[in-house]
Amino acid sequence: MMSGEAPVVKLRVGAQWIPSSTDRDSTAVFNPSTGKTIARTPLGSAADVDAAVAAARDAFGQWAETPVVERARVMFAYRELIARHFDELARLVTREHGKTAGESRAEVQRGLEMVEFACSVPVMLAGDTFPQIAENVDGETNRHPLGVCVGITPYNFPNMVPLWMFPIAITCGNTFILKPSEKVPLSAIRLVELLIEAGLPDGVINLVHGGKEVVDALLQHDQVAAVSFVGSTKVAKHVYQTGTAAGKRVQAAGGAKNHLIIMPDADIEQSAQALAASAFGCAGQRCMAGSVAIAVGSAGDPLLDQLVGVADRLNVAPTDNNDASEMGPVISADHRDRVAGYLDTAGQVGAKVVLDGRDVDAGESFLLGPSIVDQVTTDMPLWREEIFGPLLSVVRAESLEQALAIGKTCPFGNGASIFTRDGYSAREFKRHFNAGMIGINVGVPAPMAWLPFTGWNDSFFGDLHIQGTEGVHFYTRQKMTLTRWFQSASEPHHDPVWKSK
Ligand code: NAD
Repeated sequence: MMSGEAPVVKLRVGAQWIPSSTDRDSTAVFNPSTGKTIARTPLGSAADVDAAVAAARDAFGQWAETPVVERARVMFAYRELIARHFDELARLVTREHGKTAGESRAEVQRGLEMVEFACSVPVMLAGDTFPQIAENVDGETNRHPLGVCVGITPYNFPNMVPLWMFPIAITCGNTFILKPSEKVPLSAIRLVELLIEAGLPDGVINLVHGGKEVVDALLQHDQVAAVSFVGSTKVAKHVYQTGTAAGKRVQAAGGAKNHLIIMPDADIEQSAQALAASAFGCAGQRCMAGSVAIAVGSAGDPLLDQLVGVADRLNVAPTDNNDASEMGPVISADHRDRVAGYLDTAGQVGAKVVLDGRDVDAGESFLLGPSIVDQVTTDMPLWREEIFGPLLSVVRAESLEQALAIGKTCPFGNGASIFTRDGYSAREFKRHFNAGMIGINVGVPAPMAWLPFTGWNDSFFGDLHIQGTEGVHFYTRQKMTLTRWFQSASEPHHDPVWKSK
């Protein structure tokens, strides 16, 4: 189905790529570098969800019974296909999201590592055994898949975040339905195509599109066992509450407001480089992006000088077919205007714009330059709200204690970093800052595939986090078995075996 020039993307249900059952409006997928519509995403319907769940339910029995080493073998093949198509996948991220060539490659690399992690799932499904836990009784545990699992993903990592979910879920023996962000469906489609090429049986991976209606149908479907969600806090809370009320296992990662604390003893030059990369990398659209710098004591003025210098030198330019760009556009014109709105009102609330990204020459693209706002205080929307764009707020503090106190009042709790050479400050920060992922002289303390993504507070709802062994535990449930072998009086009692000479 075509609407103008841009094709409407398809769903994957069972063995087929099919159009959505709805003929209602679709939504535009933009190339943020050009402002042009490159595809359209159907709004989707509960009927689409019913078809995908039925296909996933049908495929579950046989897939769950397939030996785990064979399931992992599909992931080994998938890993090779992603490596072979690495450049193509990275270019696709740049095209539909707007990241620079380097950022897109880094994203695909992280996704690839998730598949490598999934290849090691067989060993993580091993259970415990307790021979002779009681007289003639052996105990054991083992892990079983859940059934049909669902992944709902955000726009800001079109390749990596889907790969946080389905490789682990599928290797654990589940079948899967992916619902990518309607803003960036193309990477998800390509990832599913490659997984099918890797040899996955029909129905084990399915793909639906749409927004709230489709998400709510997935959350309420009685054949869905578990839901993984990544997105904004408001929707994460809704997904967690609705999904758990419907009896599902849910892990829901939400928004963030990540603090970067710079102590007076820090290496200011290197810290400023790390801060700029954290705040302006991916145009600030990372859930682990530095959003607030807390400059402690005398660190403030020299840090600001360095930061403005580093940010001002960035080559801010469209990214599609332009490897020289060092900072790309944000996802949409609406989003650019929303972020710029904080700059429009900064002066009125008592803050001071020291670098103004609105000055950039955007042309038809969704570019917004890096912005730095000083004199921000915790009563301002600049501090309270997730901005999710290339805007760094600077808060001045007198001491580490004051910085820790600011962290305690933050409703989010994804990442936080300290920049210091002092072991005591680093240790106090690590132990006491109110966030789940901590960096010491690291601008973006995002865990790699082997570690869990441990957001706290309003940055995560659920018990078992995404990634790492917690990911494997999320997608499986344990069974415990006690086995007794009756021994009759006539049967001999055997002594333990001793090493013979
Ligand atoms: P979003 O919440 O708008 O959308 C996420 C998903 O939810 C999409 O698939 C979307 O279609 C769906 N959705 C949107 N509104 C919905 C509604 N009312 N009901 C049901 N479903 C709905 O998020 P986004 O703008 O795509 O992504 C950016 C957000 O994601 C930021 O807040 C960012 O911090 C967060 N994020 C968090 C993490 C993390 O690990 N904590 C990682 C990446 C992104």
